[in-house]
Amino acid sequence: MARKLTVGVLIAALAASTLSCTPTQQGATIGAVTGAGAGYALDRHHRTRGAAVGAVAGGIIGGVIGYTYEINKFCPNCGRRFHDSRVYCPYDGAPLQQVR
Ligand SMILES: [Zn+2]
Repeated sequence: MARKLTVGVLIAALAASTLSCTPTQQGATIGAVTGAGAGYALDRHHRTRGAAVGAVAGGIIGGVIGYTYEINKFCPNCGRRFHDSRVYCPYDGAPLQQVR
């Protein structure tokens, strides 16, 4: 029963992650699912607590990893790299360029 539910949640989350648009969201979703599964397996005495803690930790870690995939802009002036959402360099105000 519980195993079927876990597999169902996993499939639903994976489907949701492929539909969501940014790597940060995808990373957070996959991280939360993986963390929930790991927490559920590791905390034998408190399955629900383990899964909840794992989901939160995994979501944060996954989100951070996903975020790094969106750092694809650089400043032609100082050479620093920035997140995709930035348009101008916060250090010298130069318009940022796409790396790829
Ligand atoms: Zn700069």
